[in-house]
Amino acid sequence: RRTCFKIRTGSDNWNKILGGGFESRSVSEVYGEFRCGKTQLFHTMSVTAQLPREEGGAAGKVIVIDTEGTFRPERLIAIAERFKMDPETVVDNVLYQRARNSEHQHEILCGMTADLATGQYRLIMVDSILNLFRGDYQGRGELNERQQKLGVHLRKLVEVAEEFNIAVVMSNQVQSDPGAAMFAGMDGRKPVGGHVMAHASTTRVLLRKGRGDERVAKVMDSPDCPEAEATYIITNGGIND
Ligand code: ATP
Ligand code: MG
Repeated sequence: RRTCFKIRTGSDNWNKILGGGFESRSVSEVYGEFRCGKTQLFHTMSVTAQLPREEGGAAGKVIVIDTEGTFRPERLIAIAERFKMDPETVVDNVLYQRARNSEHQHEILCGMTADLATGQYRLIMVDSILNLFRGDYQGRGELNERQQKLGVHLRKLVEVAEEFNIAVVMSNQVQSDPGAAMFAGMDGRKPVGGHVMAHASTTRVLLRKGRGDERVAKVMDSPDCPEAEATYIITNGGIND
């Protein structure tokens, strides 16, 4: 069994509640309302995944599947400088793919087998996982089909994570229905995607806004970490304490 590794968030507080970071051979989910830092986390992890192993990195290349059109490779420059990495190399090591619809999103993933087989990739991020599925299957009668297609996509992500010892991290939206939020308990926010999503995500982290510029990450579901909260901020150099 090849050893697992953890990819850091950029915030020591947040890493601590994850036991170091987001784990390889595993699919993790960060969910939360708009502007809480999901995409900024992905910008940051595009860099930290490339850090040398001596510095706690995975020394690996990164795949970004963007369904929202908000990932900005230029953002990686300032983050690379913070971590004393060469910006040009960092940007070159990120394979960026913009998905147009849910079918294309799945095709992108399936089309990556040759890249993954090189063994150079250590992190795949999907931002966000359900956005296009929600748009493509809007009718009530289409929900079953949506969940079935989503399940196929998620199973592929789980398979790739395990087969290639890769960390998969996906972002997700929260339910806007206040009734559902009430039933979700004190945090009042529940990820979309139902049990199909819950089944695929090994670790789930809820993000929310805190006081002032502060943001809060809370581990909601993890095989080896307790429920715990950490505060972080978003800076030009990425996620930080
Ligand atoms: P959404 O659900 O809309 O996709 P998100 O969770 O992905 O939201 P992000 O886009 O990651 O949210 O974070 C947006 C926040 O990051 C904003 O508050 C913005 O001010 C902040 N931000 C973006 N770029 C920088 C930067 N260069 N320096 C500091 N803060 C930044
Ligand atoms: Mg975003």
